[in-house]
Amino acid sequence: MPAVEVVIEGIGLGVFVQQIVHAHILRLEIEGRRVTGATWRKNGRDITMHAGREVILTAGAVQTPQILELSGIGNPDLLARHGIAPRHALPGVGENYQDHYCTRMNWRVTQPVTLNEQTRGLSLPRAVLQYFATRKGILTLGTGMAAGFVKTRPDLEDADIQYFFMHASYADAAKRILDRQPGMTIGVTQLRPESVGTIHVQSPDPFHQPAIAPNFLSAPADLIAMRRGMQIARDIVGQNALAPYVSHEMSPGPDCSSDADWDEFTRRNGQTIYHNTGTAKMGTDPMAVVDPMLRLHGLGGLRIADASVMPTVVSGNTQAAVFMIAERAAAMILA
Ligand SMILES: Cc1cc2nc3c(=O)[nH]c(=O)nc-3n(C[C@H](O)[C@H](O)[C@H](O)COP(=O)(O)OP(=O)(O)OC[C@H]3O[C@@H](n4cnc5c(N)ncnc54)[C@H](O)[C@@H]3O)c2cc1C
Repeated sequence: MPAVEVVIEGIGLGVFVQQIVHAHILRLEIEGRRVTGATWRKNGRDITMHAGREVILTAGAVQTPQILELSGIGNPDLLARHGIAPRHALPGVGENYQDHYCTRMNWRVTQPVTLNEQTRGLSLPRAVLQYFATRKGILTLGTGMAAGFVKTRPDLEDADIQYFFMHASYADAAKRILDRQPGMTIGVTQLRPESVGTIHVQSPDPFHQPAIAPNFLSAPADLIAMRRGMQIARDIVGQNALAPYVSHEMSPGPDCSSDADWDEFTRRNGQTIYHNTGTAKMGTDPMAVVDPMLRLHGLGGLRIADASVMPTVVSGNTQAAVFMIAERAAAMILA
């Protein structure tokens, strides 16, 4: 959801919506105990606009806490450390950052059925022709062709690991360069990590990105869940049904067998899958930032409606949950 995106346009019956694009929010405006508007910069000019009723902040779990803190809303000590005058003490702003950490396991595939070989050489122009002629072929496929949810312990009520299966493998994951030979990948993600991080301003400059400290794998239980999730993935790929396709495991590879090996691979290989959530969490405890109606605790005139309000990260991809937050927010605002 864009934080500020609109064009001035009439919608029948003399009702006007004003939309401003390519503007960078600098701060919220606060008068007394109420948020009354926002100031943004566009083409070098700072513009302040006051809201008729409410301001709805939807800058996402990274920038929503940044904008709150730039406006003086947050932990007063932290704000003072960064030269920002505290206006409203809310210690939960920027805390409770939760995310999904993902490792990638790769296998060499014995048949030319993967994107690795089908997206290079003559195969690529053939795929382009096929797409335009029949609207079929590899150009109609996403990379995540299958997903799975498993429990790493039988006593768990719900799955705690999600798999993303891709019929492709990276030679260089950082540069997104595919292997030349056929390969496949299973991304392994722990759904409800215990490790919690923070996202806070590191300067009063609104153009200086906030510091993201995910603290991935700081809780020992998370390393154990990841380890078990990868071992189950290895067992699945070892089943007879996949034997005609799988040559060998490339990463972490057969040498990875002890707990220490798995933990080392987890630490070295994993990264975020950009499911940043929780940094302005909804709730009623002292660390909550918004109430169950998405209204900021302690100051009137502001609601937050984005991934930052999730008290805990959802057990799957986050986009659909954000759509639901937006739907619920719209209903609450109308009510
Ligand atoms: C690379 C990537 C891949 C992903 N893949 C998936 C996926 O496959 N499936 C899935 O379910 N989820 C996926 N996600 C996660 C999903 O996109 C997010 O959970 C979701 O978009 C969060 O929505 P949001 O409204 O909270 O924030 P956002 O979608 O980030 O919206 C925030 C908006 O605020 C704007 N903004 C921020 N600061 C300012 C400012 N100061 N001034 C003006 N505007 C500002 C931003 O430009 C942005 O438009 C992915 C995320 C990334 C980054």
